[in-house]
Amino acid sequence: MTPSYIGRFAPSPTGQLHLGSVYTALASFLEARACGGLWKLRFDDLDTPRNVKGADSTILHTLEALGLHWDGQVDYQRLHISEYEEILADLIAQNKVYRCVCSRKNLSQVYAQTCRDAIISPDTPHSLRLIVEKQDLSFTDKLQGHIIQNVAMHYGDYILKRKDAIIAYQFAVVVDDTRQQITDVVRGIDLLNETPKQLYLGHCLNLSTPNYCHVPVLVDKSGKKLSKTTFAGAVNIQAPSEVLFQLLIWLKQNPPLELAHTTVDDVLAWAIAHWNGEKLKGISTIVI
Ligand code: GLU
Repeated sequence: MTPSYIGRFAPSPTGQLHLGSVYTALASFLEARACGGLWKLRFDDLDTPRNVKGADSTILHTLEALGLHWDGQVDYQRLHISEYEEILADLIAQNKVYRCVCSRKNLSQVYAQTCRDAIISPDTPHSLRLIVEKQDLSFTDKLQGHIIQNVAMHYGDYILKRKDAIIAYQFAVVVDDTRQQITDVVRGIDLLNETPKQLYLGHCLNLSTPNYCHVPVLVDKSGKKLSKTTFAGAVNIQAPSEVLFQLLIWLKQNPPLELAHTTVDDVLAWAIAHWNGEKLKGISTIVI
């Protein structure tokens, strides 16, 4: 029987996990565990020029040190290239995508459909774009409420496969979440605006779409999102319960002080038993 809740964490192996990504990982882990669900792990490793060798093992090591144990085998997008290609071939056959030779620097935010009706030989380097019809798309995010977006007006026809032959994140994520039977996506609010594109594609492919929950992102005092290059974002895995304790404060869970000096398992057991994601409702950033 498929469990009624399957969550996931999908880091890109582009470096070590920083506090901001561990914050998201913990929120998604707790959402899943608090309702007895599964929590899966997948590496978003298609954007090969950005991958850093060995980053996947470092990430696994950090998650283990923090007691964030995942269910089943770790998945890697690169193992599924032929699956993405097959789906693309179907979309091409159905005239739902088209070849595009526009270069990124000529593009404004909303794609002007320049290549929609152009005849472009498959031998010319090209990207593949999805034809997006004008329609309002709405969904209810567990924390950020009701969201409406017209993808055609916001982005226009968007890219499913890049000119450098790399499958675009927007496309892969939809296929991956379906393959892994993900019911609930918990991730950073920086991806909220991307969600309608993913829902749109899910509808085009006749897939059932997951529930979404976008948690705040951690920012530094100047309001900048923590990134892999910010020193403030380093995770000290020598003191894992302290790290978890601090993350729980930023997750607005009010952990009792004595928890900071217990074991990782104790902190997580408390956090699972007391988890209340609603405390993050409507919040978009946490200043650390
Ligand atoms: N790989 C993406 C990231 O590291 C996450 C994608 C997602 O959760 O949908 O930002």
